[in-house]
Amino acid sequence: MSELTDLYQEVILDHNKKRRAEGFNPLCGDQIQLYVKLDDGLISDIGFQGSGCAISKASASLMTSALKGRTAAEAGELFERFHQLVTTDDAADPGELGKLAVFSGVREFPARVKCASLAWHTLRAALEGKGEKVTTE
Ligand code: ZN
Repeated sequence: MSELTDLYQEVILDHNKKRRAEGFNPLCGDQIQLYVKLDDGLISDIGFQGSGCAISKASASLMTSALKGRTAAEAGELFERFHQLVTTDDAADPGELGKLAVFSGVREFPARVKCASLAWHTLRAALEGKGEKVTTE
């Protein structure tokens, strides 16, 4: 019976993948630990613990609420849009990013771009299944 239970749990664990990644921005001292739960490619749960400046924490908070219920593929697209938003002047319509559009202002402050994008780089590492520490350097 216990063997069957073990097998069942293995199958469940395979379909409900929990991913975890850590990010670090040495320029500012921002740190983040990100947790992502994937159900057949869908982000069913996502959360973070972080310490650092207000921008890095606000970015992680808005990112996690924006991505819950989306697919990993959609998260990748959003990452590209967000990255454009904070690095280029002629980004796509920021309206598509919802609340994340508030970060368009950080492109005026290059040092802050890394604070705003730390959570996103960490997310990409988590989705790609890379457990190692991500750094913005
Ligand atoms: Zn920072």
